Amino acid sequence: MASTEHTHRYAELTWPEVAERVADDPVCVIPVATLEDHGYHLPIDTDAVIAETLAERAVLARPEQSLLLPTVTHGYTPHHMDFPGSITIDWKRFVEYLVDIGKSLIHHGFRRILFVNGHGSNVPLVDMAARLLMLERRDVIAATFWYLSTPESEELLARTRDSDQPGGMAHACELETSLYLAIHPERVQMEKAVREIPEWDSDTVWMDWNDGPLSIKGQWSGWTESGVIGDATVATAEKGRIWLDQAVLEVASHIDELAARRPRPGRDHHQGAEPALGTREGTQ
Ligand SMILES: [Zn+2]
Repeated sequence: MASTEHTHRYAELTWPEVAERVADDPVCVIPVATLEDHGYHLPIDTDAVIAETLAERAVLARPEQSLLLPTVTHGYTPHHMDFPGSITIDWKRFVEYLVDIGKSLIHHGFRRILFVNGHGSNVPLVDMAARLLMLERRDVIAATFWYLSTPESEELLARTRDSDQPGGMAHACELETSLYLAIHPERVQMEKAVREIPEWDSDTVWMDWNDGPLSIKGQWSGWTESGVIGDATVATAEKGRIWLDQAVLEVASHIDELAARRPRPGRDHHQGAEPALGTREGTQ
């Protein structure tokens, strides 16, 4: 095999190299994002840059166990269309597109798929795609997660953030701006950063890195004038590096989990049912 420098990116392999990597049973890591407004100060590609950076750094930390797929740049964001630049994909088409990518990988023999999603409103749809892929073949393991949401990450954010909670870390906020500053500081126009946090007027409806218990979304422009929900003015590259390192650790640990995980194919209890596909002798 060639050096990992040239082999961690799936799209840069030749087809015989892809066939060779299938034998390692690696985790296919797929960044997923969307293009949408991120305030006056951040590029519209913020979710894509963050998702791809997390995924690539984690794959580089686990070169034997994983492969980086090209980023799925466009996602589900119809509620951001009041802001110039946003591109949205119909929710069902988006799920089907993700499933088609996964089915193609499965066709070539890959069995482990991890979606690294950088856009909050993609969450239920990426989760649905992962679930559908596991129904596609019983020996497939597909998963997704919301980054910086493990108990350790939540504790770290609570301890190191400067913005108000809840509200300071929802969108184009202290967190996303800090991450972008840690990745591409030259693209962030900090002099245009604002603090904009809606009056929640509720104990159950609010947005932060993890939202309040009652989910009410609607048009994004109904919540914010700038597109920001949070406090971008307190973002720093230093905090961004700390949070980025933690998020990469999270992704790498999810790769470890998927790489080690045994499929749970289940068994069809109907009389005369065929043994489960893709399992040794059709048993668990
Ligand atoms: Zn974002």
